[in-house]
Amino acid sequence: MNIIFVKMMLSMDSKVRVRFAPSPTGGLHLGGVRTVLFNYLFAKHHKGEFILRIEDTDQTRFVPGAEQYIQDTLAWCGLIPDESPLHGGPYGPYRQSERKSMYKQYADTLIEQGHAYYAFDTPEDLDAKRKEIPNFQYSRAHRMEMKNSISLSAEEVDALLKNNTPHVIRIKVPENETVSLDDVIRGHVSFDTNMVDDKVLLKADGMPTYHLAVVVDDHLMKITHAFRGEEWLPSAPVHVLLWKYLFGLDKMPKWAHLPLILKPDGNGKLSKRDGERLGFPVFAMDWTDPNTNTTTIGFKERGFLPEAFVNLLAMLGWNDGTDKEIYTIEELIAGFSLDRVHKGGAKFDYEKAKWFNAEWIKKTENEKLAPLVKPYFDEAKIEIHDPNYLVKIIGLVKERCHLLTEFVAQSSFFFTAPTTIDTASIAPKWDTKKHAFFTALAALYASKITNGIITVPSPDLEVEFKELVAKHELKAGELMLPFRIMLVGGKFGPGVFEIAEAIELKDTVARIEKCLQILSSN
Ligand code: GLU
Repeated sequence: MNIIFVKMMLSMDSKVRVRFAPSPTGGLHLGGVRTVLFNYLFAKHHKGEFILRIEDTDQTRFVPGAEQYIQDTLAWCGLIPDESPLHGGPYGPYRQSERKSMYKQYADTLIEQGHAYYAFDTPEDLDAKRKEIPNFQYSRAHRMEMKNSISLSAEEVDALLKNNTPHVIRIKVPENETVSLDDVIRGHVSFDTNMVDDKVLLKADGMPTYHLAVVVDDHLMKITHAFRGEEWLPSAPVHVLLWKYLFGLDKMPKWAHLPLILKPDGNGKLSKRDGERLGFPVFAMDWTDPNTNTTTIGFKERGFLPEAFVNLLAMLGWNDGTDKEIYTIEELIAGFSLDRVHKGGAKFDYEKAKWFNAEWIKKTENEKLAPLVKPYFDEAKIEIHDPNYLVKIIGLVKERCHLLTEFVAQSSFFFTAPTTIDTASIAPKWDTKKHAFFTALAALYASKITNGIITVPSPDLEVEFKELVAKHELKAGELMLPFRIMLVGGKFGPGVFEIAEAIELKDTVARIEKCLQILSSN
C-alpha cells in the first residue's frame, strides 16, 4: 500500500512538461520537426504537457511569417501543443519578446551574487579586439583587457552606469571548474569551464539573450525535460551554471540532446543546401523567405502525408527494438522511450522516406486521400465531375504512387483521353489481323452502347475479350499491350479491364478507334 502511495505521489509531483523552443528565423528543418515529435511523444507517453515557446529575443534575426509557419507545420503534423502563443496556457505569455520585463531581475541577482558583470565595450572595441586576437573569446583569458565591472574600479563603473552608458550583462564563468550534466541520451557529459566564454545574458536594449531566457523560462514554465538538437550541447555549460546560480541544480530539467540528422552519405548534418543539391525537401512545408522571395520546397507540397512524415521522422533515431517500421501516432506514443533513442546521427535516405509515404498511401482510406490529391488535379486543369469517381480511381492507382503528386500522372487517363499515345510501341508488331480484332472489339462495345449499356464489369470484359481473341485465332498476350496503350497512352496503369470498366464503353470505343486511325495513317 505504502509503495503504491509513494509512487503515486512521485508521479503527481513530477508531471512531465516539455517544450519546443524555436527561434522564428525561417523554415522548419526536418531535424526541428523531429525534436517537436520526440517532445510530443515523450509528453503524451507520460500523460504530460507539451509546450511551444517562441524564442524571439534576437530582434535582428526576426523573420516575419516564421512563427506562423511553425504553428502551421505543427498543425499539419498533428503535433498540437497544450500551451503555446496560439493556445495560451497558465504560464504565458509564450513568446519571449512579450516576457521582456521578467528577465532583468535574474540578471541583477547574478550581478549581486558576483556571477555576472556589466560590460561596457562598444561594438568597435569588440571588433578591434577580434582583429587583434584570432578566435577572440570574451572569457577569463581576456576579460581584464576589456571594459567591464571586473576590470574597472567601482567608481568608474558607478559613473558609467549613472551616465546610462550602453552596457550588457555577461555571465562570469568560473575558472578551473568542471561543469557536468547527465544527458538522458548521451550519458554523463563534462565541460572544462576554462573553455567556456562569458556569454552575454542581457543585451543593451534590455532584451535577454537566448541563454538567460531559456533558463528563466524553463524554470518559470516548470519544464521537467528539455529536448533539443545536439548542436546546442556546447551551450549547455552556460545553462547548467545559470541553473546552479539562480534556481539550484536539483530543479534543473533533465537534458536530452538529440542526435543530428545526417546527409545521405553520413558526412555531416543534413542541410537545406543538400536538399537543393540532391533534389529532395529538407523543410516540413514550403517556406518562402520574405527577404529574398525564394521558396524552399517542403515535404507537404512534395506530396507527403503528415502521418508518413511523422512516422519516418520517428524512425530517424528511434526504434522499438523490433523490425516494425510503420507506426500510427498512437502506437508511437505507446511505444516511445528515450532509452531507445540512438546516440549516433541518423542518415537521411529520401528513397526510404518515399517508401514510408507509399506505405501510408496504401494504408489511408481512399475517401481521405481524395481531398488531398484533388488540388493536384485542379492544378493540372483536370476537371473532376464526380467526387465518388475520384475515390474509386484512387483505389485503383494508389498502389503505384509514392507521393500524392504522382496521382495525376498515374490516373489522368481515367478523366481525359490521353493526348499522347505511344503507338511507336505497338507499330512494329502491328498487322491486319490485330487491326481486324480491335475493329471487332470496338464494334462489340458499340453494339452494347446501342442496347443502352453504359459499362460492363471488368471480369465480364475480360471473358468477352478472350472469347473474341479465340475467334480471331490470336493470342491474348499479344493484344493486351496494344489495348493498354490505346486506353492509357503508355505502358502503365492498373489492370486494363478495370480501366475499360471505369472509363465506360463510350470512351473505350473512342480510344480504340482513335488509335486504329493513327496506326492506319502511319
Ligand atoms: N531557441 C533555440 C532554438 O532556436 C532552442 C534551443 C533549446 O531548445 O534550448 O532552437
